[in-house]
Amino acid sequence: MIDLRSDTVTKPSPAMRTAAAEAEVGDDVYGEDPTVNELESRVAGLLGKEAALFVPSGTMGNQIAARVHTDREQEVLVERESHIYKWELGGLAQHSGLQVRTIDGGDRGVVTPEAIESGYVEADDHRPGTGLVCLENTHNSKGGTAIAADRIDAACAAAADRDVPVHLDGARLFNAATALGTDPARLVRNVDSVMCCLSKGLGAPVGSMVVGSEAFIADARRIRKLLGGGMRQAGVIAAPGLRALENRDRLSEDHENAERLAEGLAEIDGLAVEPPETNIVLLEPGEPVETFLGDCKTAGVLGVPFEGGQVRFCTHLAVDADDIGTAIDRIAGR
Ligand SMILES: *Cc1c(COP(=O)(O)O)cnc(C)c1O
Repeated sequence: MIDLRSDTVTKPSPAMRTAAAEAEVGDDVYGEDPTVNELESRVAGLLGKEAALFVPSGTMGNQIAARVHTDREQEVLVERESHIYKWELGGLAQHSGLQVRTIDGGDRGVVTPEAIESGYVEADDHRPGTGLVCLENTHNSKGGTAIAADRIDAACAAAADRDVPVHLDGARLFNAATALGTDPARLVRNVDSVMCCLSKGLGAPVGSMVVGSEAFIADARRIRKLLGGGMRQAGVIAAPGLRALENRDRLSEDHENAERLAEGLAEIDGLAVEPPETNIVLLEPGEPVETFLGDCKTAGVLGVPFEGGQVRFCTHLAVDADDIGTAIDRIAGR
């Protein structure tokens, strides 16, 4: 079976398992796990920020950031198709008492200064006031679009003009940086906080990072505890996370494989395939999604249904160019 459902299906490499077994550990709730501390300072350094916090999941990272940046009853501006809005169980309301206002990022999920301007609400006796803007890069629902630094900067400037902080959901930030040929620190220079996942394309078994200023991370640490995310000898999962950072250099292979897959699928009658920007391929199958995915599964390829009658295939480190060739043949012959 060729599993293209998600870049989260990868299993830890032998090197990651060895690193886990050999990790130096301590009680991280007391700040005493040297492996977690190393991972946090490495990622903060990579992103050019003061500090970072290791969290069990990307969802928890996003929710912590939203909670730290806002006061209850404020509004948060999110892109209409963003993960934090669509796929986190309404957590902004549940954990932080926030009202959500969606803004439209168009075909590629780019939040423009104009969209921020039109969505912004000034607090008064009747209106809650905008407390946060959330961006996403790469944008998952839009097909893994990699949003360039100048577009992120422009959104940040519009938010800063109104004294509103910006959080970036960078679950696949390193895919964006690779596709754009931009230093990840440059991509996030003007945002106040970032979440990035170690457990997606980088291949770690568990974990995400929240990154920002020292003061922001000090608050984030308290909220992580509140949400039940304080972990003890977490070095055993931080050590594979450190190894996962080495996989940044090979993300371009995933992007080439996505391109290969899109080109091959585009030749198959009935499939309308969008050219990928990173490791995500979206297509319209020209038949019910369940039928198409069922036939793909029988032929030996897995994908997932996406909104609007679309299908998503995602490349990752457990599939190589030969697997992609096989996947195309299997889907063509289904
Ligand atoms: C996967 C994902 C998340 C959440 O990460 P989990 O570790 O699955 O909770 C957040 N944002 C985006 C864009 C994602 O793709």
